[in-house]
Amino acid sequence: MKTTILTFTLFIFFYTAHSQTNPEITKIGIPIEMLFPEGKSKALILSYDDGRSEDRRLVKLMNQYKLIGTFHLNSNKLGLPNYLNKTEIKELFTGHEVSVHSANHPFLNTLSKIDIVYEIAEDRKELERLVNYPVRGMAYPFGNYNDFIVETIKGLGIEYARTVYDSYTFNIPENFLQWRPTMHQFSKAYYEPNKPENDKKELDLFYQTINTFIQTKDLALMDIWGHSYEMGSDESKWIETEKFFKMLANNPNIHYAKQIDIVDYINAFNNLKFSVDKNKVFNTSSLTIYFKKEGKTYSVLPGKMLIISN
Ligand SMILES: [Zn+2]
Repeated sequence: MKTTILTFTLFIFFYTAHSQTNPEITKIGIPIEMLFPEGKSKALILSYDDGRSEDRRLVKLMNQYKLIGTFHLNSNKLGLPNYLNKTEIKELFTGHEVSVHSANHPFLNTLSKIDIVYEIAEDRKELERLVNYPVRGMAYPFGNYNDFIVETIKGLGIEYARTVYDSYTFNIPENFLQWRPTMHQFSKAYYEPNKPENDKKELDLFYQTINTFIQTKDLALMDIWGHSYEMGSDESKWIETEKFFKMLANNPNIHYAKQIDIVDYINAFNNLKFSVDKNKVFNTSSLTIYFKKEGKTYSVLPGKMLIISN
């Protein structure tokens, strides 16, 4: 009997002491929210496909508004009529990202495994020769992909691959190899000729989505994609492009980024090593990482440990 009472008393004592004084237990489950570089809650990616000659005008406009683009190029098309030349790629896209779009722009779902490998590896190799850095991103030609294609591109050094399935959200992509962008530029306006009512509806949706992005206080990543040839020689569409560039430019709350930089940043955030109580964090990456914990913003330097004092 005495033993039972003693055991029970000890149990109560230890249980009470443990639950009251051990912060590791009470603090488990504190959420850590990622922030973009410089503690910003928003990031913008602008990505354009195909490397057509209108990219020259587009890049000039982007540079004017200090916007950063990601350009998905087909190396075997460069030099053809209405395409960029190989000799201008490095200089034109300085400060922007050059990325894979396959060597010849085929429907990848019609190809054998070895031909898919060729299309991706050959494009990577030639673009890397032109820009002189590792090319690690991709957009699927025609947005065309399936499980076989996704499995095949793994191991070819491709770290993200953008689809054309617009999400109309600002979510962080869960699967970088099936990256769903926020939306096509101008939404689906001008998809069919001579449908002014549809164009107006789609343009309204496009600008409404941009305004929501600008106003939100939540963590938000917006990825707008398109082709410079869609503007072509139509001045009204270039005016439309400049209009949305102007809306998004020079905003201190937005981090402007190459798509691959966002991938590297998210990977580095996901690789932070937190202690159980979330008060100590080690950053194994080469990037300064920002996060929010219990409403406060913290940054942890590359290769350093941060101790958060209470
Ligand atoms: Zn394309």
